[in-house]
Amino acid sequence: MGHHKTVWSNPADLIRHLQPEDPVMVFAPTALQERARQFLDGFPGLVTYAVKSNPDEAVIQNLVTAGIRGFDVASPFEIDLIGRMAPQAARHYHNPVRARSEIAHAVQAGITSWSVDSRSELEKLFEMVPTRVGDQGVEISPRFKLPVLGAVYDFGSKFGATPELAAELLGLVAERGYIPSLTFHPGTQCVDPIAWESYIRVAREICDMAGVPARRLNVGGGFPSHRVAGVDPDLGAIFSEIADTVAESFGDDAPALVCEPGRGLCADAFSLITRVKGIRDGASIFLNDGVYGGLAELPIVGNLDRIEVLTPQGRPRDAERSGRVIFGPTCDSVDRLPGELGMPADIAEGDYVIFHGAGAYSTVTNTRFNGFGAMTNATVLSLG
Ligand SMILES: *Cc1c(COP(=O)(O)O)cnc(C)c1O
Repeated sequence: MGHHKTVWSNPADLIRHLQPEDPVMVFAPTALQERARQFLDGFPGLVTYAVKSNPDEAVIQNLVTAGIRGFDVASPFEIDLIGRMAPQAARHYHNPVRARSEIAHAVQAGITSWSVDSRSELEKLFEMVPTRVGDQGVEISPRFKLPVLGAVYDFGSKFGATPELAAELLGLVAERGYIPSLTFHPGTQCVDPIAWESYIRVAREICDMAGVPARRLNVGGGFPSHRVAGVDPDLGAIFSEIADTVAESFGDDAPALVCEPGRGLCADAFSLITRVKGIRDGASIFLNDGVYGGLAELPIVGNLDRIEVLTPQGRPRDAERSGRVIFGPTCDSVDRLPGELGMPADIAEGDYVIFHGAGAYSTVTNTRFNGFGAMTNATVLSLG
């Protein structure tokens, strides 16, 4: 992906000067650092960043600058990326199914925190992972799942043990001399704190079933970003709900808390600038980016409707909005945004459509399908 070297004031400034033909992902480092501080100040425990949501080196660098000291990594590539960019930071290897070659790579890299959701994969860790690295104990966290609640996407369909199995695994972890902890991931874009509440209560039950207190409880990611106009999620309320539920469920032997936000940290620090290629006979709008590019997750997670439309001179189109069908540039009929999106009546060919809050699961899933997807990057002082 190409990178524009100039720093622009905002997306309108970039559009006015460049009138880009290809999609541009603009990044506001100040917005990212501010969000990181909101997590660091508000979350009652260790904040780690889920690297998969946006592994751009500028993102990692700005998170480290803001004070983030831990990362959730899922592959040898991510382990090495963080090892290189943040050598002092904790790396939690939270992908519960790993090839033996991946385990060997992580042991070599000095990983001291692992998650697991099955007997077979725990057995592999017992065979290959030492109980100590230097003077540090090694933590293994059984990952458990519940039926999905309050999330827009069910991660539990792939990973997570039942509470009963998690209790069995927790017991085995303690017996073998590793640090016993627990982890879960409630789903993504969880706007309702209820997603965490039920998991935290069940974490307590798992400890009781196993007769083993968890040293740490990782409450996963899932913290929402600002996707829908006028509905800015209240992170503070989620943090307090988590703290209150932990206090209520565990009392004096509360485990230390960890969270691993991806989207919640990075999404709102980016906006995606797309261009209107054509408006077919005044009806559906064709953009130069779509579900095979920077808007890949919209069909799964729902539309991003914090949208601005600007003329090539960077002036806002502010006519009344109504629902329009939006297609991406490829010839695949799947390449359509879900439902309809509110677009100003005066939108015209050559205009720019800016999707705010587009920083998660977008740059990494951008493909070159059909020869499109020539996305470039740029830095802006602010996204507004
Ligand atoms: C993807 C993932 C996350 C981050 O999820 P978000 O919804 O982006 O916050 C956190 N933990 C695990 C284990 C994940 O797989």
